[in-house]
Amino acid sequence: MKAFILAAGLGTRLRPLTDTLPKAMAPVAPDLPLLEHHIQHLKAFGIREFVINLHHLPEKITGHFGDGSRLGVAIEYSDETAGLLDTAGAIRKAAPLLGDEFLLVYGDQLHFEDIGALIEVYRRSGASAALLVKRSDNPANGDVVELAQESGGRIVQWHARPHAIADLSGRLYLNAGVYVLSSGVVSRIPSGRPVSLDREVLPAMLAEGALLHAVPAAGDILDIGTPDKLAYAQAWFARHPARQRRALFLDRDGVIIHALPRGEYLTDWSQSSLVDGIQSLVSSARSAGYLTVVVTNQPQVSRGLLSEEKLRSIHDRMADALDRQVDAIYYCPHTDSDCCDCRKPKDGMLVRGSRDFSIALDRSIFVGDSDRDVTAGSSAGCRTVFVRNEFNAAEGARCSPAFVVNHLTEILELL
Ligand SMILES: [Mg+2]
Ligand SMILES: [Zn+2]
Repeated sequence: MKAFILAAGLGTRLRPLTDTLPKAMAPVAPDLPLLEHHIQHLKAFGIREFVINLHHLPEKITGHFGDGSRLGVAIEYSDETAGLLDTAGAIRKAAPLLGDEFLLVYGDQLHFEDIGALIEVYRRSGASAALLVKRSDNPANGDVVELAQESGGRIVQWHARPHAIADLSGRLYLNAGVYVLSSGVVSRIPSGRPVSLDREVLPAMLAEGALLHAVPAAGDILDIGTPDKLAYAQAWFARHPARQRRALFLDRDGVIIHALPRGEYLTDWSQSSLVDGIQSLVSSARSAGYLTVVVTNQPQVSRGLLSEEKLRSIHDRMADALDRQVDAIYYCPHTDSDCCDCRKPKDGMLVRGSRDFSIALDRSIFVGDSDRDVTAGSSAGCRTVFVRNEFNAAEGARCSPAFVVNHLTEILELL
């Protein structure tokens, strides 16, 4: 199934941003235009072919995406530079590119909805159209649909705007503007003029007895049409669980490099040796989409035995030894008596990493070789792995790690 993304809107309320960008190219994150988010999101549901309509500053879109091969998809464009045609008019114009059934998405909305479920409802119901619906505190700006059942299903009434419905509850929902449409809808669109899909075509089809199905949206569907709404959408996007990454947190001594006997500490990289299996663990974690983050207590710094400069140069050599596949190294320079938030068993370094890199701690793993590690990892909400070695026989049992391993390669199956 192809997806048709409507990207022709002028976005006048988003000026001055839209003086130089089409609205659908507004950034939802640094270096991520909303339109690119749509493509990435839909790609996860197996959609590989896209059609995008163009009106305002078309070269900003074609120049960014080209034929789509950079993103692993195929993109065709429908040229609306001669004049805007509204939703259904745009569909009519793009129809030769769209196929018998297609997904229709507004390029100026932001969401992470389960498009696979919507396509499934469309197929199973045999409806002419299936669409997402949502609740809203402000239904006046949208089209209200009345469903046969509160949980979703057949649409029995369509109240196109303007309407007097002020409260959405029970079987009343707002049309959310995400559709799977059949060629039966396309054939109902008059040509040669702007036509609205949700104010003209779909209400008329419903009145004539066509089967239209609705699915309540699982999450928020945000509009980015004003500077305030865009700022809200950007903050929501940054916090969204789907955007959060997983991390493999690694203790340093005893996990990445062999621990020295108690009382000894590393003052030069030449004294160290990598633990067997660490390189393959780090590269497998990265391939599986994990960030790799080192969190290490280095109280020698606070005691004046090791300068931060020296420590950082040791860490630089360690990153080299791991083929630069380490995303961050956090160290606590303090001793217990400094009462800081970062020294393990406190979870401060993990919390800081989660903030710096948008890491979902509950989907992350912490590998350590001491009770301090396991306690820090558990208190941050990570899955904890205790690595046994020659120095830590007395530890590990007291703090109940989720997993105990004798060799780092055993961690591969947890990724
Ligand atoms: Mg250790
Ligand atoms: Zn500290």
